Amino acid sequence: MHELSIVENIVNTTLQFTAEHKIEKVSFLTIQVGALTGVEPPYLKLYYGDLCEGTALEGSELQIEEISPEAFCRVCGEVFNPDEHERICPGCGMNDYEILHGEELTIKELGFE
Ligand SMILES: [Zn+2]
Repeated sequence: MHELSIVENIVNTTLQFTAEHKIEKVSFLTIQVGALTGVEPPYLKLYYGDLCEGTALEGSELQIEEISPEAFCRVCGEVFNPDEHERICPGCGMNDYEILHGEELTIKELGFE
């Protein structure tokens, strides 16, 4: 499962940080997940609980901020929401564009006591 390795990455990165900063108990972790990543937030929460057991993250809350997709058309300059199935610009019908948002998968904030 795709989500499991993502959560492992997030948890490992966070645990490295807590060890370096001698943080013993994390209360929450906020991550940003772009809609174009194809990641299912409920799975992230499920695996998160399992992976946090026995670590500084045990009992902490995983907060997920979903980021809507946004693209910029290189042909006509339109900013639009790219659809997963039909990724063309609604302004000119071309598919030469740059993704601005929606591919995020990052740790935004860490709360600790
Ligand atoms: Zn366009």
